[in-house]
Amino acid sequence: MRVLGIETSCDETGVALYDSERGLLADALFSQIDLHRIYGGVVPELASRDHVKRLVPLVREVLERAGVAEGEVDGIAYTAGPGLVGALLVGGAFARALAFAWQVPALGVHHMEGHLLAPMLEDRPPEFPFVALLVSGGHTQLVRVDGIGQYQLLGESLDDAAGEAFDKTAKLMGLRYPGGPEIARLAEQGQSGRFVFPRPMTDRPGLDFSFSGLKTFTLNTWQRCVAEGDDGEQTRSDVALAFEQAVVETLTIKCRRALKATGLKRLVIAGGVSANRRLRASLEQMAGGLKGELFYARTEFCTDNGAMIAYAGCQRLMAGQQDGVGLEARARWPLEQLPSIVN
Ligand code: ATP
Ligand code: MG
Ligand code: FE
Repeated sequence: MRVLGIETSCDETGVALYDSERGLLADALFSQIDLHRIYGGVVPELASRDHVKRLVPLVREVLERAGVAEGEVDGIAYTAGPGLVGALLVGGAFARALAFAWQVPALGVHHMEGHLLAPMLEDRPPEFPFVALLVSGGHTQLVRVDGIGQYQLLGESLDDAAGEAFDKTAKLMGLRYPGGPEIARLAEQGQSGRFVFPRPMTDRPGLDFSFSGLKTFTLNTWQRCVAEGDDGEQTRSDVALAFEQAVVETLTIKCRRALKATGLKRLVIAGGVSANRRLRASLEQMAGGLKGELFYARTEFCTDNGAMIAYAGCQRLMAGQQDGVGLEARARWPLEQLPSIVN
């Protein structure tokens, strides 16, 4: 089965074509980062309008690169939530209209299931069951995954998501949007040990997270440096490194606990923050120590993309699922509400 995937939940327009026999045939992405950068974050209405402009050319590009004609697509998957409602509606309406014109089924896909399954597109995909750490701009969740749609939430952030903490902290330090890659870049020049930040909620049992206090701690440290006239590039890098180390170590401690609590050996990380090199290295080492294994997607499939939606949609469409008459667009949508598929 050949499925066209359409992602428009936030500020990236992603389109891809996935074939259940041959794998990923083509994918294309337009990132709106430059559009939103001057505002320091995503402006929802601008995002919706830009998706409208990008979809048709991206679909044409993907079909052409894949060498697939319109009549050779068997289904269309689009992100139905969670995300910005206006942006979701653009992708959903477009996908449904296209499916109607092509007379193929359409299916609304859960954005976080897309992220979660993105590592399946790699050469060495993880086998079920596994523990997944979803770390993105809007989510920080530990999930036990026994199959597609068999998700048990083990823990999550009580306030900011990990990516959100990177973005907000970067903004407070005068860095560009999105902050994750900016902090990671600065941290490479940082001097380890000059600042040590707290590891929130690691001193008590449980698998929940909290990152908003760490953000404030970082801001206070940075403001103190600025007040002392110590606001040069080296100090900024040292603060960025201390923040990144705190986030990485906190996530590593909780992942270790989750593996131990479930007795599982495989750990999957997904979402934009899973692109972080320090996080990958730390989790790789931790999992190795437990005789376990770490899995993640290639960097461009850690952040939003159409390929993950095409893949997740293909699995569900093949299992016979498809949309009813209504158009799905949900700002909030718990992952655990998804039906499981039997194959
Ligand atoms: P959600 O998926 O929860 O709806 P989103 O789609 O906005 O949110 P993603 O696209 O998965 O999030 O990821 C974007 C986030 O990843 C941003 O917060 C960004 O700062 C962060 N990020 C990207 N690369 C890195 C990196 N190398 N290190 C840390 N964070 C990163
Ligand atoms: Mg994004
Ligand atoms: Fe995302």
